[in-house]
Amino acid sequence: MGIATVNPTTLETIQSFAPLSADQIHAKLALADEAFQSYRQVDFAERSQWLLRAAELLEDPNHRQYYAALMTLEMGKPIQEALGEVKKCAWVCRYYAEQAPAFLANQSVATDAQSSWVCYQPLGIILAVMPWNFPFWQVFRFAAPALMAGNVGVLKHASNVPQCALAIEKIFLEAGFPTGVFQTLLISAQQVEKVVQDPRVKAATLTGSEPAGASLAAIAGRQIKKTVLELGGSDPFIVLESADLEAAVTTAVKARMLNTGQSCIAAKRFIVVDEIADQFIQKFIAAFADLSVGDPMQAHTEIGPLATTAILEELEQQVQTAITHGAQILTGGQRWNGLPGNFYLPTIVAEITADNPIYYQECFGPVALVFRVPDLATAVKLANDSPFGLGASAWTTDPQEHDYLITQLDAGAVFINGMVKSDPRLPFGGIKRSGYGRELGLQGIHEFVNIKTVWVK
Ligand code: NAP
Repeated sequence: MGIATVNPTTLETIQSFAPLSADQIHAKLALADEAFQSYRQVDFAERSQWLLRAAELLEDPNHRQYYAALMTLEMGKPIQEALGEVKKCAWVCRYYAEQAPAFLANQSVATDAQSSWVCYQPLGIILAVMPWNFPFWQVFRFAAPALMAGNVGVLKHASNVPQCALAIEKIFLEAGFPTGVFQTLLISAQQVEKVVQDPRVKAATLTGSEPAGASLAAIAGRQIKKTVLELGGSDPFIVLESADLEAAVTTAVKARMLNTGQSCIAAKRFIVVDEIADQFIQKFIAAFADLSVGDPMQAHTEIGPLATTAILEELEQQVQTAITHGAQILTGGQRWNGLPGNFYLPTIVAEITADNPIYYQECFGPVALVFRVPDLATAVKLANDSPFGLGASAWTTDPQEHDYLITQLDAGAVFINGMVKSDPRLPFGGIKRSGYGRELGLQGIHEFVNIKTVWVK
């Protein structure tokens, strides 16, 4: 597929874009490099002012509606969620505009020197390769800290959200950031290699699939360039006997279905102890059947189309293969044909054994896997029996179980009695095949800086 807006609700191609030529990429990198030389001298107060202006642009009711509709048009996110996403982007801009000066302040360290300290300096051009699932949020959570740190950004966005990519570039320009500080490169995945190899590009971050992350990291590794990878996940959602069942079920549905199930930190494996499994599953099935599937532009829609036909076909194939390996479908398990687009019904899959391919896979859509277990230890063992380690959610009112879950779960984040979510104030990222490095919080802004040691006698 080329770079194009294809409405996933109707399958209509709205607009196609030619990828940049090698010369055009070269010119944009030259502009970014030139911009960096002066932007690195700009003080925090001015950078903050521009970022706060970006937040205001995002918060303006007319703009917000426009950006949200653009996301829904290009990748099918329910419009209410898209509006929430725009708001969250403003939050991350405000957060780093306010916190970055403290996060990047010099730190004195007592040594044998007269004075010694650590300071944080920008690296230069950072390449961000981003996915379509949160087309605004993923970009802003990279750009807000990177720009506050004095870096400049070039964005290679997913090929199905080019208009979002261009709109974001415009926001930074309108907010006052100098030309060249944040640019969108409309390029294919194959063109990324040359950009990473360019000596003016100092580091790269990728949010997306394992193959894309491994490819980018290998290319960057040969150039000795730092990368941050935010990759896939198959987060466990553990429900123990003492859990508030109503809250657990309500949150389970939300945690699985956000963004029509296309979220890296969506709960994907529901691991429930025998004592409450029947009750949980019954309520879970009823709640799935109640979800409103349809046109994502309508305010009441909870489940929209999958972003592309390829994603729909892959998900369908995963479920079919699971069935042939003995899994049972408790609800859904097929396409929804009310509209021509990429719709799949909310689906629950049970009776999954470890030799079923779906056991270790990530399901990127509205498909929940349910497992029954006898006890806490088995629940944690199953949760950890995954190639991924992004987030984990667990439900229990027993403090001893809290401690056990927090220490034993192999994940970048553990949420007790709540769903896994990103928050500008907290670091976000995974372990194992979910990637490495962190975004957001204090740790996120330190990923793309030169942590310089200074020693003066
Ligand atoms: P994807 O195919 O890897 O695409 C992500 C981005 O990488 C796109 O911009 C894509 O460009 C580009 N890309 C693809 N192959 C590449 C390559 N070989 N070299 C360089 N760039 C390449 O991912 P997806 O399937 O769209 O997204 C879903 C995956 O992302 C899921 O696994 C999900 O869990 C993960 N994800 C992770 C996080 C997180 O924070 N951990 C957040 C969201 C999503 P094109 O569009 O042009 O191919």
